[in-house]
Amino acid sequence: MASDSAAPPPLLSDDCHTGVPSRYFDQAVESRTRLHSNRTLPPSIPRQQQVPILPPDVTRETFTTAISELQNLLGNGNVEVNDKPLVDGWYMEHPNTHDAFHLVDQEDLVSSAIVYPGSTEEVSIILKWANQHLIPIYPISMGRNLGYGGAAPRLRGSVVVDLGRRMNKVLNIDGDAATCLVEPGVSYFKLYEEVQKTGLPLWIDTPDLSGGSVLGNCIDRGVIMGADCGWGKGYTPYGDHWANHCGMEVVLPNGEVLRTGMGALPGRDDADNPTWQAFQHAYGPSVDGIFSQSNFGIVTKMGMWLMPATEHQSYCISFPKDDDFEQIVEIIRPLALQRILGNIPQLRNVIQEIATTAKPRSHWFKEKGVMPRELIREIAKTLPCGDCAWVFYGTVYGPEETRNRQLEIIKKEFAKIPGSVFKLPQDLPDDHYIHSRVKINSGTPELKELDWLNWLPNAGHTFFAPITPTKGKDANIVYDIVTRLHHKWGFDCFPTWCVAGREMHFIANVIYDRGDPDAKRRVNGMMHEMIQTCAKEGYGEYRTHLLYQDVVAKTYGYGNQVLMRFNEMLKDTIDPNGILAPGRNGIWPKRLRGRGFELLGGDFEAPKAGSD
Ligand code: ADP
Repeated sequence: MASDSAAPPPLLSDDCHTGVPSRYFDQAVESRTRLHSNRTLPPSIPRQQQVPILPPDVTRETFTTAISELQNLLGNGNVEVNDKPLVDGWYMEHPNTHDAFHLVDQEDLVSSAIVYPGSTEEVSIILKWANQHLIPIYPISMGRNLGYGGAAPRLRGSVVVDLGRRMNKVLNIDGDAATCLVEPGVSYFKLYEEVQKTGLPLWIDTPDLSGGSVLGNCIDRGVIMGADCGWGKGYTPYGDHWANHCGMEVVLPNGEVLRTGMGALPGRDDADNPTWQAFQHAYGPSVDGIFSQSNFGIVTKMGMWLMPATEHQSYCISFPKDDDFEQIVEIIRPLALQRILGNIPQLRNVIQEIATTAKPRSHWFKEKGVMPRELIREIAKTLPCGDCAWVFYGTVYGPEETRNRQLEIIKKEFAKIPGSVFKLPQDLPDDHYIHSRVKINSGTPELKELDWLNWLPNAGHTFFAPITPTKGKDANIVYDIVTRLHHKWGFDCFPTWCVAGREMHFIANVIYDRGDPDAKRRVNGMMHEMIQTCAKEGYGEYRTHLLYQDVVAKTYGYGNQVLMRFNEMLKDTIDPNGILAPGRNGIWPKRLRGRGFELLGGDFEAPKAGSD
């Protein structure tokens, strides 16, 4: 999968589930060329440690026997040992062997092998095999969770179950109910293409980058970019993916297959239930939630709601002063609560106007250390949005009269901030970021957000992603902590606020050079300090990189860690052998708990203020 060749990027139409639709081919080539031109690291370096890296408590002999058994069960070609040089690749040709955006040594977060099931039955077989040999496994759908650990397992040496390669069908699109049912390997690109083929007036909801798995993003409750390059959530009125999923098929750690929601009630002659994708709650306890951001089951099918296509109008509003921030948030809240803001809008710091030009930071600033605010101001003066501090990107939906009325109110409210400037896409040049927002905010896939990664050579990124109420004072506390600590640890700060209504997801995209061990050390130090400092004020992350999952889990410590103790009780009951994704989201099974696998330390020395 990961490739460093100059061969054309893989295409969806060549039956490559990770590929790009042909209509994005040129954009993909351009993006890759730009990224590679910033690279100073070799495509791969020889492995330093004995390969494959084994999971704990498993001898090389047991591993070899178990793997050949798995090859017999699933076919030789469907099990690969991870013993080749590691290639980071790039977004459209990402690895499934390790964390491509490594924040520790490249070989530290790696699997021992990768297995490719072709059906739910084969997933069950893998789980039974894992129980028999006490080999930990880690499911991925697409493995593009870049910024949060990519395709790497939390526990090194686990066997990665790559569901996407052979389970990547859109199983159903119901045009009347506006729903779909997908397998793990369906990307937003693919779902979009399949919906287009039906000719139905339906939208998908895609995150900033569209190569992620529809199911994987939803199960991880993704919210933005993502890096998932992952950048996870979407931005239409259906932007909360988890809220718009409906019905799942899950293989439990013992290999049994469970269906959630109405799917638990078989349809006539054992067909799928006719309301499986229509009603989320069904009967009895709602169990869907325990399969998201957890390690209680492997999801093999998921229903999602599609949005009936509608007219739309995107816009942006710039605000001149850094200190306008609190007032902007106070204006946003009532507009969001009244649903006058039609989608999940973004409030972005002006530095991102610079980053989305796709020019490297060195184009503007050759020094080490944080880019000075004065310089950002000078650069911004030369860009279409001008000398401003914040830019709000939104979209309204529906017939013209509705949109006009909403825009009238939005303009009037934000005009209370002196110096704010309202612009429509036609007021901005063709290569301005807003045109990418128009597409994303109307459910059309994109690759534009990759431009971030040109900021530094060999750039990787992770996200610091706390939640705050949509209130100026709370948001300001978090913003102050994050900017102060970026300054202390020597990183440019890229704040984006994604507004859901009563709360906002704050996403600070931390960009670092993967070839610079000191930068990686500082990212780790900064992440630990941001997590702890925000937690002291009562603000917690909604999602985090594998390396910080234990510490973030610990911050949710109300009642003497009762939530974690409850999760552990579930884990030990559902997965008594502790084979499924041990340690994911801080949930360790009894067999491995307290044996030193938890990553709780923050032993990273801070540099002097602002140094690099
Ligand atoms: P994406 O490529 O969309 O970012 P991934 O496949 O990387 O999504 O999945 C994100 C995370 O969600 C993974 O690291 C994994 O822990 C979890 N996950 C993904 N797919 C499944 C699944 N089918 N069942 C259970 N957990 C999953």
